[in-house]
Amino acid sequence: MEIKNLSGGLSLNPNNEDFLAMQTQNDNTPPSYDDVFQYAKDLNYGELHFKIDKKTGLFAVVAIHSTKLGPAIGGCRCIPYASTQAAITDAVRLAYGMSYKAAICELPHGGAKAVLMRPPVIANRQAYFQSFAEFVNELNGRYVTAMDSGTDVNDMDIIATKTRYVTCTSEGGGGDPSPFTALGVKRGIEAAVKFKLGQDNLRDVHVAIQGAGHVGYYLARDLVEAGARVTMADINTANLERCKNEFKIEIVSPESIYEINCDVFAPCALGAGLNATTIPRLNTTIVAGAANNQLKDIDEDDKLLFERGILYAPDFLINSGGLIYAASVYDHGNFEQAKNHILNIYDALIKIFTRAKAEHKPTNHIAQVIADERLY
Ligand code: NAD
Repeated sequence: MEIKNLSGGLSLNPNNEDFLAMQTQNDNTPPSYDDVFQYAKDLNYGELHFKIDKKTGLFAVVAIHSTKLGPAIGGCRCIPYASTQAAITDAVRLAYGMSYKAAICELPHGGAKAVLMRPPVIANRQAYFQSFAEFVNELNGRYVTAMDSGTDVNDMDIIATKTRYVTCTSEGGGGDPSPFTALGVKRGIEAAVKFKLGQDNLRDVHVAIQGAGHVGYYLARDLVEAGARVTMADINTANLERCKNEFKIEIVSPESIYEINCDVFAPCALGAGLNATTIPRLNTTIVAGAANNQLKDIDEDDKLLFERGILYAPDFLINSGGLIYAASVYDHGNFEQAKNHILNIYDALIKIFTRAKAEHKPTNHIAQVIADERLY
C-alpha cells in the first residue's frame, strides 16, 4: 500500500473559517480505507480507542500511533465527517504524521490524534467535552490532547476540569502557538539561507509568503524586522491588508506568488500547494514555510524540487515550533527552554541539508529516514 502524507500540526485557530476550509478540503485527505486495521497496521500502529456517548452526542476516536519516545501528543479535531470510516482514517493518518513531527524535532513524545465526529448541533458543549475528557483520562496519560480544527482554548479548559492530560488551556496552557510556529519557520529560513546562499543573516533576502493568516502574519513581522524583503499574497484581503498596514511589504495576487523572483518561497496557506503544476513555475532557490503537507505527492514533488536545485525545508520539521511550544508547556512550562528548543530547528535542518547533499538525495526523504531511525 502506498502511504503518503505526513501531516499533523496542532492546528490552531479553529474558529477561522478559512482555516477550517483549508484543513478539510486542502489537507490532502486520502480516501477512507475499507480496512482501517490494515491501514493502521501498514503505518506501524499502535492503538485505536473509541468512545460513544449517546447522551452528549460524542462519537470519538483516539489514534495513538506510538508511545515509544514518550506519551503521544496531538490535537483534538472536531469537524463533520462524511462517514465513520473517513473519521477513523483521518485520525489514523494524522496521528502517524504527529509521530514523525515529534520525532524529527526530538520531542519526548509519540504521535496521536483525537477525532470527534461533530454532530449538526452540540447541544451542551460543556457536557460534550467533559465526556471526551473522561475518555482521555481513561487512557492514563498515554495520550495528551490539544487544540485542533473545530476546538478552541475554551474547550481545552473544559477538558482540563476532568483530566490533566491536556495542553493549550488558558491557564498556563500557552494560548495561540502561531508566533512560535513563525519563529521556527524564521529559524528554518535562516538555516536554508546559510546553507544555500552562504549568508549569515536575512538582510535583503527576498521572501515570498503565500498566506497572511496567523503564521504568515508573525512570519512577515519577524522577517521584516530581520531586514528581509517580503512579498505576500492571500485570497483573504482583510488578512493581507492587516500585514500591509503594519509592515513594509509588497503585495501580489495569489496566482502570481508562485512566479515571484525571490530567494525563499514560504508556503503558509494550503496543503498540497507544491505539486507538478506549481513547482515548475517557482522562481526561487529555497522553499521554506509553515504549511502542513506542502508536497502533494511527497516522493515525486520532493524529487522534483531536488532536480530543480531548489532547497526544500521539510514541512514537518520547519513548522514544528507550535508543537514544541505546546508540548513544552505541558512537560515543564519553561518558556526559555521551549524557545531554545524551537531555535534548534536551525541545527536540525542544517544536519538534514548536509546529509541530503552528501547522499545526493532529496531533503524530505532524508528527514523521513531520520525520523524513522528514531521511531523504529
Ligand atoms: P490561517 O487560516 O490563519 O491562515 C491561512 C491563510 O492562507 C489565510 O489567510 C487564507 O486566506 C490563506 N489562503 C488560503 N488559500 C490561499 C491561496 N490559494 N493563496 C494564498 N493564500 C491563501 O492558518 P495558519 O494558522 O496561519 O496556518 C497556515 C499553515 O501552517 C496551515 O497549513 C497550517 O496547517 C500550518 N501550521 C500552522 C501552525 C500554527 O501554529 N498555526 C502550526 C503548524 C502548521
